[in-house]
Amino acid sequence: MTATAALSGDELKAKFEALDMPAIYTEGECDRMAAMIDEIRHLKVERNAAILAHNYQRPEIYEVADFVGDSLELARRGVDLEQEVIVFCGVHFMAESAKILAPDKTVLLPDMRAGCSLADSVDPDELVERRDELKKLYPDLQVVAYVNTTAAVKAVVDVCVTSSNAVSVVEKLDSQHILFVPDEHLANYVQKETSKTIISWNGNCYVHHQITPENILSVKRGLPNIKVLVHPECRADVVELADAVLSTSGMVRYAKESEAQEFLVVTECGLSDKLLLEVPEKKFYKACKLCQFMKMITLESTLDSLRHMRFAIELDEEVRAAAERSLLRMFELS
Ligand code: SF4
Repeated sequence: MTATAALSGDELKAKFEALDMPAIYTEGECDRMAAMIDEIRHLKVERNAAILAHNYQRPEIYEVADFVGDSLELARRGVDLEQEVIVFCGVHFMAESAKILAPDKTVLLPDMRAGCSLADSVDPDELVERRDELKKLYPDLQVVAYVNTTAAVKAVVDVCVTSSNAVSVVEKLDSQHILFVPDEHLANYVQKETSKTIISWNGNCYVHHQITPENILSVKRGLPNIKVLVHPECRADVVELADAVLSTSGMVRYAKESEAQEFLVVTECGLSDKLLLEVPEKKFYKACKLCQFMKMITLESTLDSLRHMRFAIELDEEVRAAAERSLLRMFELS
């Protein structure tokens, strides 16, 4: 594999004009970024590494990524990669999922502070205690975990789900009672869409939880024909205002395929940036909520990760194998 041809600062600046952020992507900053992008691309070849980046990453990270997608697409992509090293530009639980499914690869997370408020809202010991209590009341109970959970949590549940397959996987389980962790809003959404009895954990994503109906309605008043795309991690009163409730990759597909020209993208801001770059002929309005954890990954930390081969994700084999079972069961059911 050879490195891609170098990109100049001017080319990068021209590319990022669609984002309309001139104060961030200045000439000097684009020159600096172009030099780092070049070095990262060379180091990837030297280290036999691939970079997987989540949809919420910074636009400059897309420039060095081999694949950009949602958390599960990235984890699955990791399995088929010919490279031995994966640099995961996303948050900790996502890098763990990549390691769960590709244990023989070296999975690096450029900044170990890149956590997740949602994943952190459930502790595996508390979950086991709650599950055991509920099983006394509902012997048929199964525990379903959104993929936005740690490996230790995935290891103690019956099956994992994503935001796009949660409804269909839950519907296929041969239990009426479901303990759904950790996102209360996704749990509410699943409750509305299925015939099961959903018992919800009380976690949420601080980014989506901040978005209010008024944020949507104020845009709709000025642009009544705008298509509103909402992530199911949003509050129920926000989901009610959606034209479509979709995962991040579902939003990308919908925006590309729809005949509509204007969209309000109700999720973390990075996705709107991705759409502005990939679908320049359409207009995207942002919910303007940033995930501080996602934005901890920068070109500098990615470069350092490749230079020093850090920070490697390590998992206890028993935990990894149990977590893998929950993910594989999801693949079987979805
Ligand atoms: S956007 Fe929310 S769910 Fe995603 S990483 Fe950030 S805190 Fe976690």
